[in-house]
Amino acid sequence: MSRVYNFSAGPAVLPEEVLKEAAAEMLDYEGTGMSVMEMSHRSKAFEKIINDAEQDLRDLMNIPDNYKVLFLQGGASQQFAMIPMNLMKNKVADYIVTGQWAKKAYQEAQIYGKANKIASSEDKTFSYIPDCSDLPISEDADYVYICENNTIYGTKFKTLPNTKGKPLVSDVSSCFLSEPVDVTKYGLIYGGVQKNVGPAGVVIAIIREDLITEDTLPGTPTMLKYKIHVDNQSLYNTPPAYGIYICGKVFKWIKRMGGLEEMKKLNEKKAGILYDFLDQSEMFKGTVAKEDRSLMNVPFVTGNDELDAKFVKEAKAAGFENLKGHRSVGGMRASIYNAMPMEGVEKLVEFMKKFEADNK
Ligand SMILES: *Cc1c(COP(=O)(O)O)cnc(C)c1O
Repeated sequence: MSRVYNFSAGPAVLPEEVLKEAAAEMLDYEGTGMSVMEMSHRSKAFEKIINDAEQDLRDLMNIPDNYKVLFLQGGASQQFAMIPMNLMKNKVADYIVTGQWAKKAYQEAQIYGKANKIASSEDKTFSYIPDCSDLPISEDADYVYICENNTIYGTKFKTLPNTKGKPLVSDVSSCFLSEPVDVTKYGLIYGGVQKNVGPAGVVIAIIREDLITEDTLPGTPTMLKYKIHVDNQSLYNTPPAYGIYICGKVFKWIKRMGGLEEMKKLNEKKAGILYDFLDQSEMFKGTVAKEDRSLMNVPFVTGNDELDAKFVKEAKAAGFENLKGHRSVGGMRASIYNAMPMEGVEKLVEFMKKFEADNK
């Protein structure tokens, strides 16, 4: 068996410890004589799995009691519709468009009401985060929406926008649990877990209680009502049980690593190694404004498409997988989520140095 360094943006690398534990429990989960994939979601064993997962997440993120935690399906993309369906009481919402995912959410919201694009960084191919300290927030906006870490472009909000009292809704798919957050600053935080937390198939939503009501847009399907999932503690129907089990193991792994403060330190150190190299390299260049750089997704280019392609090919042969940039940006992108070991980034930089020397 040999594992590669997997720099995929998602589904992405998971902690080896977690994969080994799951493998060891595959045939017989804690004396039940079956795998978690085979057990009833109403069983005692699964009840403990989902309850522990929620509690560990609450501990890690310091989630206040007036916020509910949901384990949902449909991917982050389903939230693009679920959010307006549940939150657009006035049928107005303000969107800050800093990349493809925010743009998709903005476009989806237009189906349900008046979605206003109050800021955007599309003028410079989403390579920066606009100043959001004094935006024209709509008087009757039901919420202000951001995508906090832009997976494709490699930018991150370092300061949250001033929403002038409106609830902030944030897509944290690609920065979930990468550093501490102040949950009280948000109305709703959500993310698909396949970037930094677990296997594809689970979406976690953390919602302030007052935003969870019966009063959804007419025609909202039962499965897309937050309230129904809250009332049933994420067990209204069969949840993505195995995915939740793996997320739970990742939460415990992060706790053992020292929690989110420690994750942040590690992530800063890891990203620093790569950014420091990019800043002094004559061949490789980062593509985004320095002050807005993501700790999770690091896009870079050589400025020459053929050289980029050669790099991606040779990197793959050397055991560095999925370094090709998103099709809309080109170049390269290294996603260095929580589970990417320090050594993976150090070795990547060594490889880049050698490639630069060999291709001068
Ligand atoms: C990947 C991603 C999505 C889409 O996730 P799906 O689960 O495939 O719908 C949305 N937002 C962000 C920030 C992402 O990185």
